[in-house]
Amino acid sequence: MQAAEVSAYFHKFDEAEEMYVDMDRKDLALELRKRLGNWRRVLALHSKWYGDKEGRQNDATHNEVHQKLGESYYDHQKWSNAAKCFERVKAGSGSTERLIDCYFRSEQWQSMVDLAQDLPAENVDHLNDLGERFRRAGMCKPAVDALLKAGNVKAAVDCCVLLNQWDRAVELAQEHNFPQIESLLSDYASSMLKQNKRLEAIELYRAANKSPQAAKLLCTIAEETMTTKVNPLRAKKLYVLAALEMERFKKRSLDMSGSTTTNMTAAQTTAATLDNLMSHDQATGESKSLERPWHGAEGVHFYLLAQRQLYDGEVEAAMITAVRCGQYEDVLGTKEASSLIALTSFYNKHYGSCSKAFINLESQKGLPQAELDQYIELGVNIFSRHPPQNPDSKALPFLDTTRPACVASGRPLIGSESTMSCRVCSHKMFSREVRTNNCPLCHAKLQ
Ligand SMILES: [Zn+2]
Repeated sequence: MQAAEVSAYFHKFDEAEEMYVDMDRKDLALELRKRLGNWRRVLALHSKWYGDKEGRQNDATHNEVHQKLGESYYDHQKWSNAAKCFERVKAGSGSTERLIDCYFRSEQWQSMVDLAQDLPAENVDHLNDLGERFRRAGMCKPAVDALLKAGNVKAAVDCCVLLNQWDRAVELAQEHNFPQIESLLSDYASSMLKQNKRLEAIELYRAANKSPQAAKLLCTIAEETMTTKVNPLRAKKLYVLAALEMERFKKRSLDMSGSTTTNMTAAQTTAATLDNLMSHDQATGESKSLERPWHGAEGVHFYLLAQRQLYDGEVEAAMITAVRCGQYEDVLGTKEASSLIALTSFYNKHYGSCSKAFINLESQKGLPQAELDQYIELGVNIFSRHPPQNPDSKALPFLDTTRPACVASGRPLIGSESTMSCRVCSHKMFSREVRTNNCPLCHAKLQ
């Protein structure tokens, strides 16, 4: 024994170790190596003598060795090696924090996710740490799972907001009775609106499933686009988007067959449906454009259709569609709608309709005198030669605007011709008028 200590004193460690082993004092051999901080040797000896089974995790030496070895790898920034060591240390012995750090630095995301799942809920600090790291890596779902497991709802909602997952944020806030989210959402949206980032605000509302707000903004932009008269097609697209958004909202608020109802009684389901109906009414009642979501899109659609027909030389079809535009003066403006009616009915010698359109044009509010004089002069010019009467033409029944119109041709849906309807916007059209495989109004694929 003394000889071994002397050898150790003179730095002949291998010799000393051998002597201890010969004396069957393996513990002293291990102690020597520990004292020297040669953890790899300790591990090698320990495994050689006692085996390296997972079941040995309760062994104090096993834990100590892996902990120390892990730390030495950690100090040398060998993250994956360190992680492997820390993984073998019994949970709860203070290595978890280091383990998380090693995973994070070596980007072992799946291991982090597994660890978060395995950690018991009492490990609040580690779960919060994991959640925060997932958030920094942009991994919303694991972050939320970890934070919720730690009981940190606020951090979970904040995480969704920071990662722009508003739908999940709103959902979580509703599940956990966290009312602040609504004001947060509206503050965020109004700050975007102040910076004139309206499309971003629409995206935000869409992501948070706030369809009426998104639709309202879309309608406002569509109206502005219409007044500039530069790009009516863009206005139509915006109106269609708004209408689709409202369809989505209607479907969501009335569709109660989803997973939310599985644990509800009949009375609860009825109450929830009623609640949804009321919120639907409340949302649509705020704005006219939301009450009739397709109205704007229809108006611009028929306006564009009439012009296309006119330029294609289909003057009668153009007149029928133009007369339909008379119903959409709120969208198109009196001047645009009536001018189109006047022009097309003049070409078709329907001077009765033409004269009515002139009366409309002349009675516009706030019309400048010069413009009014031009209308009167043109009117006198036309109607002194042609009495303001419609001829007895076959087009007359088609000028009836009390019936809904075919969105492909603009003609009212009368007669026995076969029709089909679009499953997205529910508008009808004559089958033989459909030229492409898409709905002329909302451009969805037709079946
Ligand atoms: Zn459609």
